[in-house]
Amino acid sequence: MASQEIDALSASLSRLPGLGPRSARRAVLWLVKRRETALPQLLEALAAVRDTLVECAICGNVDTQNPCGICADTRRDQRQICVVEDVADLWALDRARLFTGRYHVLGGKLSALDGVRPEDLSIGALLERVQNGGIDEVVLAMNATLEGQTTAHYIAEKMDGMPVRITQLAHGLPVGGELDYLDEGTLAQALRARRPMAG
Ligand SMILES: [Zn+2]
Repeated sequence: MASQEIDALSASLSRLPGLGPRSARRAVLWLVKRRETALPQLLEALAAVRDTLVECAICGNVDTQNPCGICADTRRDQRQICVVEDVADLWALDRARLFTGRYHVLGGKLSALDGVRPEDLSIGALLERVQNGGIDEVVLAMNATLEGQTTAHYIAEKMDGMPVRITQLAHGLPVGGELDYLDEGTLAQALRARRPMAG
């Protein structure tokens, strides 16, 4: 019989992506055993996230400043925007340090199954960024899933006629591949070999 406190913490943790009830209980036990050492660090890190992180009003990245460090960096190429589904994808691409432009986070992907419509994603804000001018290239870096590709085609269609080059990652990406899980070499290759979006 676990205490109410442990049950409550297990229940909270089991809602995290990738953690089911069993791993959550294991994590709680691990923390209980290390409540003098690892637990204070974790509490501090959680509080820092709660108190300091904000969403960038330009690109949707999560950072301690708004605009985020990437958008505020004047050395980055202002004429390129790389569009990703989620912040995790932005971080994966930026870890690879190959894209020198800025990003745009959609906040998900179109999905009939999950009821995600274009207006649920920040597609309007993206179109606005491009319409405001000064953008040469939009790289659609959606995941190589059916929904990712549907989203990419939808955006390309919306940008039809705008004076901008639309490219997408070369899909040497494994089918069903999520950017976040790819090693940096594969990501680099996909970015370097990016090609014009086919209608
Ligand atoms: Zn930003």
